[in-house]
Amino acid sequence: MAVEDFPRYPLLFGPSPVHRLDRLTEFLGGARVWAKREDCNSGLAYGGNKTRKLEYIVPDILAQGADTLVSIGGHQSNHTRQVAAVAAHLGLKARLIQEKWVDWPDPVNDKVGNILLSRIMGADVRLGSAGFGIGIKDSWQQALEEVRAEGGAPYPIPAGASEHPLGGLGFANWAYEVERQEAEHDVFFDTIVVCSVTGSTQAGMIAGFAGQDRPRRVIGIDASARIDETREQVGRIARHTADLIGVRRELRDDEISVLEGWAGDRYGVPVASTLEAIRLTGRLEGMIIDPVYEGKSMAGLIDLVRTGEIGEDSTVLYAHLGGQPALNAYSGAFD
Ligand code: PLP
Repeated sequence: MAVEDFPRYPLLFGPSPVHRLDRLTEFLGGARVWAKREDCNSGLAYGGNKTRKLEYIVPDILAQGADTLVSIGGHQSNHTRQVAAVAAHLGLKARLIQEKWVDWPDPVNDKVGNILLSRIMGADVRLGSAGFGIGIKDSWQQALEEVRAEGGAPYPIPAGASEHPLGGLGFANWAYEVERQEAEHDVFFDTIVVCSVTGSTQAGMIAGFAGQDRPRRVIGIDASARIDETREQVGRIARHTADLIGVRRELRDDEISVLEGWAGDRYGVPVASTLEAIRLTGRLEGMIIDPVYEGKSMAGLIDLVRTGEIGEDSTVLYAHLGGQPALNAYSGAFD
């Protein structure tokens, strides 16, 4: 089966915009930099990468007759906000476990930004005290049991929709969307830079591009500060997704490229390079990025272009995956 043969429930406006970042390109003085904007891909609560992944999961939700989407994330999870939006859009309930994945001192961390939006959209938000983890968590399994005990029909969506068997399809399709946009803009992106945490965004891209003719690099920038786990997860999901969409060869290890060095010591805690990247992108381009994910991947892109690791002949596509609502919980970082 090819990616276009899988059922997809439309949640996006259409292809997400692709555009040049001319002032950033000039400032860095190397490779040409473009962006593809998942942060404005949908009218559902600002969209983002999870909304794209959910397009391929909704048909299964509807087929199973579920009435409650159950998911998990940190207090400022973008993922659970997008699950809440999709539930509202479909007329379903959302039960969200939001844990203290980040030890961030801002006193409104569990009140503003993403969590506020989820509450506005009617999600049943349950705060938990457990720490960061990208795998399957007990707290989430327990929430599923509770919904069942209350007579509901829960549909489980794991953190980042990554451990879901169809979690990689959204960004496999993205790879084909990029190919079509390249033809429209008469450009070829030899390098993609993308933030990786739960892994299925980058994994989907790798699988999608593997089915195309022209080779390119998909560079993941780890924002979890758990590089081994992230690499393992990206590799596993990329291979699974490549099988699903009928890629007729084994993915090579060198196609699974997740770089470390910009996450700092902890998930969710910005470091100096994150804040510099956020300010630089804002001042040069009016493009807003967040302190948990995109600030870290942009810091990676900046260094890789400056050092020539991404060569000056390259044209690089920065995948902007969304996440700006979390900025509200990080005001102290910009005092
Ligand atoms: N960027 C943003 C804004 C996100 O919300 C996420 C979610 O985790 C990521 C990047 C990382 O994507 P993934 O979890 O698929 O690796």
